Amino acid sequence: MTGDWPCHRCGTDNVLAVLRRPGTWTNAAGNRIPVVHERHLCARCDADDPLSGPVVEYLTAGEGRDREDATQLARDLLRWIDHARPATPDEDALTAEIDAWYRGERDRQLPQSGTGLTRGTAVDGGEAGD
Ligand SMILES: [Zn+2]
Repeated sequence: MTGDWPCHRCGTDNVLAVLRRPGTWTNAAGNRIPVVHERHLCARCDADDPLSGPVVEYLTAGEGRDREDATQLARDLLRWIDHARPATPDEDALTAEIDAWYRGERDRQLPQSGTGLTRGTAVDGGEAGD
């Protein structure tokens, strides 16, 4: 596990890898803001996914892998990377966070979770087709 981030979906320390891609986000004023989209690979959340499952399986297996396994891992990683797309923020969650913030029900910090956006970094919630 990376130990640096909890999984944004399940909240556990099962993040195996983080895919970062530069992108942009358009704010309410219509300005395009540079961001980095992050896609977590979580041993708990992604194990059953057909794209990420093989990568999770490889990374969580014990010793004894050979060169052929590494070649297959490279193929699986490239396939996962090619299909891992930024998810759009959950607009309902974002609106609820903003409304709560204006009502003073949240401390005066930027929303940290549940919105898919954190301080210049978009944390993506799913694979393509979600
Ligand atoms: Zn997870």
